[in-house]
Amino acid sequence: MGALSIHLDSVKESPRRFHLVSETGWWEEAREVLPEPEVVLCTPFALNLSGYRLGARLLFRGEVSGAVELLCGRCAEPYTHEFREPLELLLEPALDRGDGSKPGIELDADDASLGRYAGDELDFEPVLRDILVLAWPMQPRCVEGCLGLCPVCGTNQNLAPCSCDASDRSRPLATLGRLLDQSKRNRG
Ligand SMILES: [Zn+2]
Ligand SMILES: [Zn+2]
Repeated sequence: MGALSIHLDSVKESPRRFHLVSETGWWEEAREVLPEPEVVLCTPFALNLSGYRLGARLLFRGEVSGAVELLCGRCAEPYTHEFREPLELLLEPALDRGDGSKPGIELDADDASLGRYAGDELDFEPVLRDILVLAWPMQPRCVEGCLGLCPVCGTNQNLAPCSCDASDRSRPLATLGRLLDQSKRNRG
């Protein structure tokens, strides 16, 4: 069994904790589907779950964690991006269990908190991969409210404020605006 797998028999009627930590091999494969496959892994991704069964239904609740190094979209500095994503999953047995249904967990296409399982091994690999792709930041920020680079001189405003005109700084196209003003004046 893989590091991200739970044996079906270990899910009992009373809740139990499961701590699954991904291995290097998983990361090397999973990173291929991420928006930035070259990203550096800081903390391996892990699932911290509480799980129990209700008859043939399995319920899991917990958190996905891990960290990678990303570049801030404002100041372009590398920073450690921590993932803490909630996970809730209700699994029902696959309908055609035992006759050719693929062993493992298959998530509902419309609702990632629902899925089906087949076989004795619950492999959370596709679950973790899904969560990671969905949680990947579209606009990475080193800190909430990063001040970014000065559009005039390029100085990182988080480290040292520059002496550029504040009104220019707040307008990314300030230089262009000035040029237009000038050309207008020249014509008039
Ligand atoms: Zn930043
Ligand atoms: Zn500046």
